[in-house]
Amino acid sequence: MITHTFQSQRRMNYTLISKDLRPIAEKIEAGQRISEADALQLYRSNDLNALGIMANVVRERKNGNCATYIHNRYINYSNICVLSCQFCAFAAKKRDAHAFEHAIDEIISAVAEALRLGITEVHMVGGLHPTLKKDWYLKLLRDLRALDPDLHIKAFTAIEVRHLAQRIFRASIRETLEILRKAGLGSITGGGAEIFDPAVRDAICRGKETAAEWLDVHRTWHSMGGRSTCTMLYGHIETLAQRVDHLRQLRKLQDETGGFTGFVPFAFEPQTTELAHIKRASAIEELRNLAVSRIYLDNIDHLTAYWVSMGLPLAQISLSYGVDDLHGTIIEEKIFHMAGATTPQQQTVAALEHAIREAGREPVQRDSHYHHLNGARKRTTSAPTRAEAELACA
Ligand code: SF4
Repeated sequence: MITHTFQSQRRMNYTLISKDLRPIAEKIEAGQRISEADALQLYRSNDLNALGIMANVVRERKNGNCATYIHNRYINYSNICVLSCQFCAFAAKKRDAHAFEHAIDEIISAVAEALRLGITEVHMVGGLHPTLKKDWYLKLLRDLRALDPDLHIKAFTAIEVRHLAQRIFRASIRETLEILRKAGLGSITGGGAEIFDPAVRDAICRGKETAAEWLDVHRTWHSMGGRSTCTMLYGHIETLAQRVDHLRQLRKLQDETGGFTGFVPFAFEPQTTELAHIKRASAIEELRNLAVSRIYLDNIDHLTAYWVSMGLPLAQISLSYGVDDLHGTIIEEKIFHMAGATTPQQQTVAALEHAIREAGREPVQRDSHYHHLNGARKRTTSAPTRAEAELACA
């Protein structure tokens, strides 16, 4: 639904675009795909306003003036992990003081409480746990499903799916996904993609799955009719060319399957990781990355700004740099906060809607596949006061 007052920005204002970028702007206006060389040129450009104008044309062509959010709750069932990715401050070994493992009852009662607040999705990931059994995972999914048949269970990154398949279920990826889906899984998460280039993976997450293995899990899920999101963890040791290569591989799989609903890039949080010497991506870098992603990924409908990482004020600005989704209420985020993020751990529906309206966009609650929820399907909490909403935006 697009408001009557919305003036379409789907035509390019060439007077505001520097000469060297105009050939790319012309391609975008004509609805043509840009090349990897074009994407690299955009990444190297300091003309942030021009990038915003070009990304906005794509964004409004695809999504009009709407900006969505989801009412969801995060659950990290355990941070115990057999791997030790260098960029990760979340994982622990069983003996570590910060190791945790929630009982199924604890998880169910946290989700039951969030359902009373109106969530439509639980988003659940954890470490690669060495000893939890197949029955534990299936009971968890079944008990969540029994809480509310309409609750969407989005769970497990591609590396968790591989871990379950190879070490826990001892089945193929497809069989594992089928078993999980039968127990209640609604979609898999996009995490774990990091940067696909093998040299980067070797330096920041040695032992993790390869790009081909990550892509294969999603390809298999899509071939079963499933949908998923995709991600990129940037702003560490990767080059701009390696970012473009990452986007290229995502666009290629999307051409093949059409199964990605949205793209969610995250800036690396170095503070408490082994890579603490790396300087965090600046606000300009985050906006540039979002704009280039929006322009290049012409076959993925939605671009999400992850406010947990970038903060709600910058996420709000990003609504003019290609973004059409502010992710969700989340309620309890751990992974980025254990790495040093200083943003709040949750947002209210009112805070997200306020941020979207203030940016001149029309807020719309969405489901896990970015479908708009209207009327009875839309769930809200008891309305917080305007003061509460503004506090959460600060
Ligand atoms: S990023 Fe994932 S796989 Fe790597 S150490 Fe952290 S929890 Fe384990």
